[in-house]
Amino acid sequence: MRWARRLWHEILDALYPPRCAGCGLVGIEGWCEECAGQIEYVAPPVCNRCGTPLSPEEFCASCRANPLVMEAVRAAAHYRGVVQSAIHRCKYGKRPAVAPALADLLVTGWQSPLTEPLHSAEVVIPMPIHPQRERERGFNQSLLIAAHFCYHTGLSLIQGVLERVVYHRPQVGLDASERRQNVRDAFRVVQSQQVVGRTVLLIDDVWTTGSTLNEAAKALLSAGAARVFAYTVAHEPLSTM
Ligand SMILES: [Zn+2]
Ligand SMILES: [Zn+2]
Repeated sequence: MRWARRLWHEILDALYPPRCAGCGLVGIEGWCEECAGQIEYVAPPVCNRCGTPLSPEEFCASCRANPLVMEAVRAAAHYRGVVQSAIHRCKYGKRPAVAPALADLLVTGWQSPLTEPLHSAEVVIPMPIHPQRERERGFNQSLLIAAHFCYHTGLSLIQGVLERVVYHRPQVGLDASERRQNVRDAFRVVQSQQVVGRTVLLIDDVWTTGSTLNEAAKALLSAGAARVFAYTVAHEPLSTM
């Protein structure tokens, strides 16, 4: 009978599409009041480079040991509670309708002094996923999030410039150096004239060590981008996985 239940849920979903991004409450666009109150936005202090919260130094130990090629990375919220459930619902529950609610966190975080270093960005590029993964999921959540973010901030989104050319195993469960190895040379820039001399803002859903974003940034910098920043919906500390 499980299939019948699932089918019934699918039918309900199709009939009543708006749901709270966090708890799935039907009839809510974005976040219900209760979930909105539970969102934990990132607050200072953070590492100047990677944005890791609770770093009392200018740069965290990881940035001192393995400097990122990106100028600065920031996340809007912590990867916990309702934010974590919403990202799961979007990616693994295959609900693209959750993406605008995730982008709203980026829009809110854009008002915070924490994201000021990123405001010099001229163009926005969503983190690409491998075409095979995009077929499995049906969409690229980062593209949907970036499009909504750009709509609200007036920044310009450029698409089809950065490609993910290697299909890697997921980063989950890997330590920092394994993560760097796993994503080596994963990206390729196909229309470099669009990034030459420009300051790029990469948009992604979650960042953990920044190794995937950093690899994408390397490809953009070798294609001639002036500087690369990254901004994600949530920050997930590596130690809590
Ligand atoms: Zn809710
Ligand atoms: Zn750092």
